[in-house]
Amino acid sequence: MHRRRAIVTDPGAERYGLVTGPAGQQQVELVRMEVRLFEAILMNSQWLLARTPEAGWPVEGDFRWHQAPLPSPGPGQMLTETLYLSMDPYQWGRRRGGVELPGEVCHGRTVSRVLASQIAAYQPGDYVFNTNGWQSHGLTGEGITEFGYMRPRKLDPQLAPISTAIGIMGMLGLTAYAGLMVQCQPQPGETVVVSAASGGVGQVVAQLAKLAGCRVVGIAGAASKVQFCLDELGLDACVSHLDEDLAGSLRAACPDGCDVYFESVGGRVFEAVLPLLNKQARITICGMISQYGNTDGKNAQDTWRAIGHDTFERQQVELHPLFVGNFVDSHQQPFLELMGEHVRAGRVFYKEDRWQGLEQAPAAFSAMLEGRNFGKTIVVVKDELLRTSS
Ligand code: NDP
Repeated sequence: MHRRRAIVTDPGAERYGLVTGPAGQQQVELVRMEVRLFEAILMNSQWLLARTPEAGWPVEGDFRWHQAPLPSPGPGQMLTETLYLSMDPYQWGRRRGGVELPGEVCHGRTVSRVLASQIAAYQPGDYVFNTNGWQSHGLTGEGITEFGYMRPRKLDPQLAPISTAIGIMGMLGLTAYAGLMVQCQPQPGETVVVSAASGGVGQVVAQLAKLAGCRVVGIAGAASKVQFCLDELGLDACVSHLDEDLAGSLRAACPDGCDVYFESVGGRVFEAVLPLLNKQARITICGMISQYGNTDGKNAQDTWRAIGHDTFERQQVELHPLFVGNFVDSHQQPFLELMGEHVRAGRVFYKEDRWQGLEQAPAAFSAMLEGRNFGKTIVVVKDELLRTSS
């Protein structure tokens, strides 16, 4: 039978000297797939920061796709494959602020599976929370950069779905718990206002406030998000910041004013909350996402404090700046126990906004920053049910 070398445009296939027959297009496709799979297993796919972004939101050209050889774990290290990658607003601050340098793998919190380990406490197949970043594989352990309080830990898939370790059972959940329960200590019957209420942190804050017996008012963007806050999170009221008369809608939703405000947004949303603050109201200053793309060079929190100053004085408002890292040593363990019980008992609901494939990371990141996400934004780098032979 006549056989000839295939005309293939896939350089990987050519490299392996593949042949096929005239009617063998399907065969070529199959071989191409095998080559891609083979390369995917042997290579580490990565997104590198291409440049320090100057202003505004991410654009094409800020990130560069790269394939590197798979690293081998040395003594005291393990190699893990990334399953889930967390998209968080603070990553943009690191990039814009020059903390993350061009050429570096973009930082990110991850849920991973151990492929090979030279650490006694971790075995192949174990699930871990770690910080592989925007790459398909990574080393964890001795000599590998750790990101402060984001310390690696083993996950028990029986306690909660493992993806929650970068969501409700991870730093997001702890942020919500620390800001609301530890700092603001809401009392039954008080009114709690939650900005970005359908988002990763906001949805947890809102539900914890409901569990604490409060009247909870959410602020979200699109109508579908407002509806989600009412129907799924069970909030008492929810208004849209897209509403031209946001201040009026919020006033109507808070007939007894606001005792606790969970600030994640700043700007126009904050200005609508300000006149509603009751005497001795408490505010967690968690974030100001509406200001993260600012180009005026001003410190967003300074501007925020200046705008609120007179009201804060008059109403004796307690301000609580929040950095979740300060609560890891003191509160992470009790928080995980409490939230684990809530999740298992079905008392809290969580919504993930899943994007399939590491290639999608820049698009998912932009969507999250610009409010086109719906729930906690996660990139599924590899489905946890697909096992890799190691
Ligand atoms: P989210 O999942 O909440 O996503 C961000 C949301 O912000 C969007 O979905 C959007 O919701 C809302 N948003 C974006 N731009 C605007 C705008 N201009 N006006 C009003 N709303 C806007 O993100 P996270 O849960 O990860 O983070 C929430 C906040 O918590 C951020 O400010 C983040 O920086 C902060 N944070 C702080 C931590 C700390 O230690 N202090 C730790 C972790 C997070 P919508 O479409 O409804 O407007």
